[in-house]
Amino acid sequence: MAEKQAATGGPDPRAPLDELYRALAAGPDGLDTAEARRRLAAYGPNELRRQRRRGWSRELGRQLVHPLALLLWVAAALAWVAGTLVLAGAILVVIAVNALFASAQERQAERAVEALTRYLPRHARVRRDGRWQEIPASDLVPGDLLAVAEGDRISADARLLDGGIEVDLSALTGESQPVHRSADAPSSGGGPTEAADLVLSGTTCLSGTARALVHATGMRTELGRIATLTQRVGREESPLEKQVRRVAWLIAAVAVGAGSVFFPIGVFAAGMSVPDAFAFAIGLLVANVPEGLLPTITLALAVGVRGLARVGAVVKRLSAVETLGSTDVICTDKTGTLTENRMRVVAVRAADTLLDPAPGSGTRPDPALGALATAVAACNNADPDSGDPTEVAPLRFAADLGVTDDHAGRRGQFAFDPKLRLMSTVDSAGGQLWLHTKGAPEEVLRRCTRVVRADGADRPLDEAHRRELDAAVTAQAGQGRRVLGVARRWLATAPTGRADAERELTFLGFVAMVDPPRPEVPEAVARCHTAGIRIIMVTGDHGLTAAAIARQVGITHGEPTVLTGDRLDGMSPDQLRDLLAEHREVVFARVSPEAKLHIAAALRANHQVVAMTGDGVNDAPALRRADIGVAMGRTGTDVAREAATMILTDDNFATIVAAVAAGRRVYDNVRKFILYIFAHTTPEVVPFLIFALSAGAVPLPLTVLQILAIDLGTETLPALALGREPAEPGLMDRPPRRRSDKVVNAPMLARAWGFLGLISAVLVMAGFFAVLLRAGWRPGAPTGPGSGLHDAYRQATTMTFLGIVSCQIGTAFAARTEHVSLRSVGVFSNRLLLWGIAFEIAFAALIVGVPPLQDVFGTRPPEPGMLALLLAFPPIVWGADELRRAVRRHRRSSLI
Ligand code: ADP
Ligand code: MG
Repeated sequence: MAEKQAATGGPDPRAPLDELYRALAAGPDGLDTAEARRRLAAYGPNELRRQRRRGWSRELGRQLVHPLALLLWVAAALAWVAGTLVLAGAILVVIAVNALFASAQERQAERAVEALTRYLPRHARVRRDGRWQEIPASDLVPGDLLAVAEGDRISADARLLDGGIEVDLSALTGESQPVHRSADAPSSGGGPTEAADLVLSGTTCLSGTARALVHATGMRTELGRIATLTQRVGREESPLEKQVRRVAWLIAAVAVGAGSVFFPIGVFAAGMSVPDAFAFAIGLLVANVPEGLLPTITLALAVGVRGLARVGAVVKRLSAVETLGSTDVICTDKTGTLTENRMRVVAVRAADTLLDPAPGSGTRPDPALGALATAVAACNNADPDSGDPTEVAPLRFAADLGVTDDHAGRRGQFAFDPKLRLMSTVDSAGGQLWLHTKGAPEEVLRRCTRVVRADGADRPLDEAHRRELDAAVTAQAGQGRRVLGVARRWLATAPTGRADAERELTFLGFVAMVDPPRPEVPEAVARCHTAGIRIIMVTGDHGLTAAAIARQVGITHGEPTVLTGDRLDGMSPDQLRDLLAEHREVVFARVSPEAKLHIAAALRANHQVVAMTGDGVNDAPALRRADIGVAMGRTGTDVAREAATMILTDDNFATIVAAVAAGRRVYDNVRKFILYIFAHTTPEVVPFLIFALSAGAVPLPLTVLQILAIDLGTETLPALALGREPAEPGLMDRPPRRRSDKVVNAPMLARAWGFLGLISAVLVMAGFFAVLLRAGWRPGAPTGPGSGLHDAYRQATTMTFLGIVSCQIGTAFAARTEHVSLRSVGVFSNRLLLWGIAFEIAFAALIVGVPPLQDVFGTRPPEPGMLALLLAFPPIVWGADELRRAVRRHRRSSLI
């Protein structure tokens, strides 16, 4: 029967309920595991089939028509028209190899990002075998009984059985206004998105709770029907990629310029033949077009994303890695992020007695303590071993005193509202109706008119008593404890609304809980401080509790400025901006989630890059507004996770800091390989400058195909390897990079072209001249084919080629660090680079040593003595840069 439904598309969800139960062969108590497993086999997993990835050939095609590749096509065509077929062929090889390489990198990047979904499994709460349990959302089957709560993303299409919820349908309809869905709503006409008693896969529950009967899963849901939505991770271009694209174009323009300048000089000043000059101009152009740069960066970002996921931070966009690296401020929750979220009641006050430590199990409570325990057990949605820790702790405390509650008497509930900071339930006990309330003590007290006595009776709450209770709460909060006030009221009739219920309460007392800081946090906080990153705690908890925890983990040292939600609400955006600019140590306490939005906006207006944590539905706008919205993977709601850029699988503050460090590292590495790729320009351009300036008295030191061989064969792998460099020591000892900083800046160009490049050029030309002069060459002597010096000339150009390769090996080692000595990172710590260099050497050896290739590239092995000279090049280039860095470090430290 299940198969038949699968084929026909399922039952009518709007049929009368008993008919729907029958059609789904289900009942009001859910399925059992065996039946669920059978159905899963029949219907398949509750997943949307993925859109197929772009195939190899299409990706390759995309790379072949990439704008920079098109430039190369033009060059190849020109070479062909000019009759230099070998060159045209070589350029085609350049294009092909590059496209292959780029598409391999793109696919690897895509795969790395796709793998992230594995770290974020979705769950659903269903009734199986007569009890509620969490299962992977992909295991949902038709007939399952599904529980929906605030912040859940709904993972199947279902008919509501009871309860009422506000739903965000925007994923299906694009309409962002929430709509009400409830079991009692009359079934209306219109499409399924308009049915008031249905909930649909892909939509989210913004508030309320409900239970629903699943009638369609996977591709048979409405979402599956419109299946255009993919779970693809965003791939919009990051600012870094944009910058690099601009730089790539700039360099390409320079390359075209250099080529066009060379041509007339070659023909008129140096007396080259027109075809030779033309070919060389084209070669110069092709060699300097940085066509491989962008995919290399994409891959570096993707590798960064993968590394982040391993440490527990799943980002949803490649560009997030880069933003993370420039984070100036982290606005963090307290509970669960800085602390363990494992609460324990340590003190309790009932009537006028403070019990510190709190009474242990087996204690027989007096009437006042008993009333308090009854209230926290009733006004509670947790189990002793699962649920919100703020509720679990009082529940266990009550259980220790022998008080439990199965909620059979519950008649109603006002769910915890982070703005009111209260939660209440209406419970019937012994034929009477009671309101039980717990929440932030000042909110509870504000609504109390009476206070309980030790014997369980109550009396009016006077001002003096109120002050005394305030002081008692303050004393607890000052120790970093989280305090919950507890109250109750006898109800003559069921209340009409929340405000009507939560008034004229009788104060029962409070419980004070400790929630220890996570052990890793103090060190992570210290790392932030040395890295110039500011931490702002934003919590709904009491100001004193917040300040105490902030001190314990080292966020603040002196007395922080504690700003409460009330004061924040009274401030204008400009006032908030000024305050945040003036005071460095700020703690926001008793703030509503909405206030986070204003904080994020104010910080951003101060040009700060803001990371903001959050977990609830109401946090979503702030998560979107921040540069990096950080949601909690464990305690967070699906809504928060969807709004966030980064999800912490362990909810841990220290992970944010690790992610920032990883972001900085990736950015640094991108700069390293750009430096490396740029450095070869000088030794490639100087030879031709010398040729041109000597008006041909010095023959061309490099053939056009040798230039291409450097560009293509010998450089790509080391560049890639530099993208995987380990972090440089001191990475988190410098202030955040400013947002306006460019990835390619003047000091970097000076180092690449003016230092590493220049030294290389000098060495390379020295090698070239050494070979020629030893053979008896004098300026102006003929070196062309047939001349006596032709063999020596071929050896000399080969020497130039090998010289550039050797110098690039030195440059690769130099590029590995920007500030510190390579020794402190480990000379051999980048395995990939060593392999890349090995490949580079092997490739060069083939070109120089294999006869057919010798003919193509115009090479001829230099004498052993000359080859030995090459061995000195890498250490000279690298050593010079070590020296330069050492001098800079010395100068910097003597400045301080
Ligand atoms: P945070 O998570 O930043 O510590 P919350 O917004 O969760 O803050 O809580 C704010 C305050 O609301 C807490 O200090 C506590 O007094 C009260 N509170 C939190 N959870 C509950 C709950 N489940 N029931 C009643 N009151 C609660
Ligand atoms: Mg909380």
